[in-house]
Amino acid sequence: MKNLREKPVLVFATHNLNKAEEVQQMIGEAYFIKTLVDIGCHEAIPETSDTLEGNARLKAMHVVKHYGVDCFADDTGLEVQLLNGRPGVRTARYASEHANAEENITKLLAELGETTDRQAQFRTSICLIRSGMVEQLDGTCKGRIAEQRSGAKGFGYDPIFIPEGESRTFAEMNSGEKNAISHRGMAIRKMVKTLLASK
Ligand code: IMP
Repeated sequence: MKNLREKPVLVFATHNLNKAEEVQQMIGEAYFIKTLVDIGCHEAIPETSDTLEGNARLKAMHVVKHYGVDCFADDTGLEVQLLNGRPGVRTARYASEHANAEENITKLLAELGETTDRQAQFRTSICLIRSGMVEQLDGTCKGRIAEQRSGAKGFGYDPIFIPEGESRTFAEMNSGEKNAISHRGMAIRKMVKTLLASK
């Protein structure tokens, strides 16, 4: 699929325009990034896998199958060492099926209590499908869970995640600082490298 200026189009299987904008900035002029909104995909795509890789793949395959376009999808989880990698694939639905970020954070802080073993990592898995060829790319950001919330930027668990080597949470960083070290930033950079190498 090409847009009017004949730039190749790549669909990001997300409804989140901020995420799409972030990828467009990183990819520059090489591709025109469209979202699910742009291709008229309004249905909820089932995320029924028990792994991040599986869910990213399910989402990307759904778009390829029903819309016939090249695309990629991502899935992110927070893996806490003391909890044997939980919430992991259930990160969005940790406190309950339709939990918001506040409820998820409250549950995690309660579950960790006053323990000093607070190591955790964010992991993003991306599934890229071009001309039927499937590629998986991933990014990890190690860090720890803070004892309490700090900062108002970002989203999700940002107010309680302190990346390794930092004293601030993600929610105390601007988006440039966060993208430079984040799980999703790393996975997207890998994908951009792959895309540009094969142009
Ligand atoms: P998704 O795969 O991007 O939909 O994210 C799954 C869950 O992880 C959601 O609860 C998000 O809020 C959370 N999450 C994903 N990325 C981040 C991040 O960069 N910071 C904080 N929380 C995140």
